[in-house]
Amino acid sequence: MSLSMRTWMCLSKNLRVCYSGRHFSQRQVLESRRTHTESYTTTGYSFDFTKEQQKLKENAKSFAREEILPLAAKYDRAGRYPREILDEAWHRGLTNHHIPKKYGGAGLGTVEECMVAVELGYACSGFTVAVEANSLGSVPLLIGGDEQLKKKYLTMLTEEPTRCAYAVTEPSAGSDVAAIRTRAVKKGDEYILNGSKMWITSAGEADWYFVLARTDCSDVNGDGGKLAANKTLSGFIVEREWPGVTVGRKELNMGQRVSDTRGVTFDDVRIPASNLIGQEGQGFKLAMAAFDQTRPAVAANAIGLAERCLDESVKYVLDGRCELNEHAISNYISNMATGIEGSKAVMYRSAWMIDNGQRNTYYASIAKCMAAEMANKCAADAVELFGLNGLNADYPVEKLMRDAKIFQIYEGTSQIQRIIISRELLNNARQ
Ligand SMILES: Cc1cc2nc3c(=O)[nH]c(=O)nc-3n(C[C@H](O)[C@H](O)[C@H](O)COP(=O)(O)OP(=O)(O)OC[C@H]3O[C@@H](n4cnc5c(N)ncnc54)[C@H](O)[C@@H]3O)c2cc1C
Repeated sequence: MSLSMRTWMCLSKNLRVCYSGRHFSQRQVLESRRTHTESYTTTGYSFDFTKEQQKLKENAKSFAREEILPLAAKYDRAGRYPREILDEAWHRGLTNHHIPKKYGGAGLGTVEECMVAVELGYACSGFTVAVEANSLGSVPLLIGGDEQLKKKYLTMLTEEPTRCAYAVTEPSAGSDVAAIRTRAVKKGDEYILNGSKMWITSAGEADWYFVLARTDCSDVNGDGGKLAANKTLSGFIVEREWPGVTVGRKELNMGQRVSDTRGVTFDDVRIPASNLIGQEGQGFKLAMAAFDQTRPAVAANAIGLAERCLDESVKYVLDGRCELNEHAISNYISNMATGIEGSKAVMYRSAWMIDNGQRNTYYASIAKCMAAEMANKCAADAVELFGLNGLNADYPVEKLMRDAKIFQIYEGTSQIQRIIISRELLNNARQ
């Protein structure tokens, strides 16, 4: 057993830990630990990676350090989408891990996806978001689509290095997804789609989008109302080249600038009814369920960024360039290290749970929130440790700090994660 596993056991023994929001007795805690240990031997999850996982990690690490990192600052300055590097990542088997083998994917789990995301995020978190957008865009289809739809659109991602996107956010519907106004009205065997989406990652690069639209507008004011989101919103696959789809300009964001973020407008777009994912009214659940699978990888990307902050800080100190005293340096360095290790444990736990068929909403939100906050603290601390140099674009930590901020916003803001965490806790406590 590894040292970390022993530490974890010790903690579990001495504390009443919270598992899926419910307080367990010590006996139950140990029982759940035993289950985890058994699963570890059968699923490969542990604090040691399997040989295959290690190989994947090494592959991701060498690709990140050799192919992404040297170009990251240049691409960031130009706001250039790293298409050719992404294509190479696809060829090297570093994308689409979550897609089952029968659709040409790697058929791997969220744990593996997170391992890769940590390594890629170390080199450039914007690049990693461009990779992860394919998961976010395709997971609703994977969860709720019929065989024909999955075969058609998932295979598109695995046969060639192509992209998809998750188009949910609108100008007046961000955190409040229920406020969506894009409409899909059924006419014969088609839906007619009208509306606008905003802040859509990979919108200009994707071949198809997962679009969340309102299919039931039967309430008094005609927009379907907010309360019935889990019944009135539906998910569709919409191809970018279809008539009526207009993609906006690439947004120039504060950080993660290589990622392609755009608005998309739908003007009388005709969607074949067969491109509805699942049933009408299931879209909201699909869009939210996707996050259980994708939030661990967002946390992993943030952790990769934080590890880079730590490494750059250590290098700066060892190069004799840091002018702070030993006490100040040890504070910065040790805070970064503790934050990274804590976030990593929760991140892998949340990934392992979903891979093992356990509901992980609570842990996925903790992982995402914790890693986002931690990455921002690490980046800000690294800039401080570098002194004035930290603010200068000739030094790597300036980009890291700009890149970190977005982790607190997309895939549910940190405040929204806190709402989910407390809701899960309170709901479980009520039962
Ligand atoms: C770079 C980038 C990429 C993105 N990619 C995608 C994508 O691929 N697909 C997609 O659909 N969307 C995407 N988004 C949109 C993103 O998910 C939203 O920005 C996010 O959900 C927040 O929505 P909002 O910006 O409208 O902020 P708002 O929801 O208006 O929130 C504003 C502030 O209020 C806080 N707040 C809101 N509600 C509450 C509440 N109930 N309690 C407490 N505080 C609250 C928020 O935390 C935030 O700080 C992306 C955004 C960015 C910046």
